[in-house]
Amino acid sequence: MNDRCSFIYSEDLLNYRFNSHHPFNQFRLKLTVDLLNRINALDPNQIVKPRMATEEELTLIHDPSYVEAVKKAGQGLLPKEMAENYGLGTEDTPIFANMHEASSLMVGGTLTAVDEVMTGKTLHALHLGGGLHHGFRGKASGFCIYNDSSVAIKYIQQKYNARVLYVDTDAHHGDGVQWSFYDDPNVCTLSIHETGRYLFPGTGNINERGQGAGYGYSFNIPVDAFTEDDSWLHAYKNAIRDVAEFFKPDVILTQNGADSHYYDTLTHLSATMKIYREIPKLAHEIAHQYCGGKWIAVGGGGYDIWRVVPRAWAFIWMEMTENPNCFGSLPEDWIEQWQKESPVTLPREWDDPEDIYPPIPRKAEITEKNLITLEKALYPIRNHQKSESR
Ligand SMILES: [Zn+2]
Repeated sequence: MNDRCSFIYSEDLLNYRFNSHHPFNQFRLKLTVDLLNRINALDPNQIVKPRMATEEELTLIHDPSYVEAVKKAGQGLLPKEMAENYGLGTEDTPIFANMHEASSLMVGGTLTAVDEVMTGKTLHALHLGGGLHHGFRGKASGFCIYNDSSVAIKYIQQKYNARVLYVDTDAHHGDGVQWSFYDDPNVCTLSIHETGRYLFPGTGNINERGQGAGYGYSFNIPVDAFTEDDSWLHAYKNAIRDVAEFFKPDVILTQNGADSHYYDTLTHLSATMKIYREIPKLAHEIAHQYCGGKWIAVGGGGYDIWRVVPRAWAFIWMEMTENPNCFGSLPEDWIEQWQKESPVTLPREWDDPEDIYPPIPRKAEITEKNLITLEKALYPIRNHQKSESR
């Protein structure tokens, strides 16, 4: 009997929209839901509407003055110079009408997923509208206004008194969530991302291990540019297993930004659909091994909304619901429907062709570098485990 699962969704989530040319485009949610519907993988009974987050919940993490600023900005009442102090009105995070309401719904969606799982109503919950991991206490950053994962983790702690393992596989460092819990030993953050030497936000180095009581509960695996599937998966599989064994969480929250793919124009990694099949598979396994199955998954980055995100995110739901119907050809009618609107040729298969990109000359060097990075990142817990086993 498959695990009970909740899919948090409503078209109102598409209101989180900066402008017509901004790379962050929640139309990808609609494309993903339509793909799942075309293969009958989404039972209407599994769909749960997101609720609005309350101000009290937002201020579990965000400064009340920041929330006030976002509100004013959405009403066109925030002066330009003040907006910049809050990271609003920038090229990355432009102001749009009703941005407070749209962002509160996005956070509410993740809180809805939390309540579905933590009350035991379902074992797994997916909110693809969430995953905005760059949001800071008092500042917007990197397309992220309110940080739904940080708010959700604080909410889990306060309402359910649980220890949370946060795993972020977005190509960008999960900085906002890391800093929110940098001194908290009851939250363990693991981020695997493209090295900050080449990519925003520039943080996420191995030595960001936490502070005070939280020292040793923050893990970062900055992989090299042009990293391919095998090297990426080696890092992911070793890191998530060792960190989960070390921390033994009560619940796992995974952020699934789909921007590590070779097609993604905002990043420099060379992954394919292969990693997006494996990521949820291992998260699922870890959730059952340590958390009685308690697994909350959110979206994140992903800027090729036609060729990458719908397939990558569909894999999460297919894994959650243990639905094997995602091999071979994509549904013809989905391609027909969306090829008309897509600026690029849509893929015809769930998986990418072997020759999706030309061989990368520095492959061996990159693989070696990532191995060393992984060793260094996990050294404290591997050393700890060794001394324990002696
Ligand atoms: Zn990203």
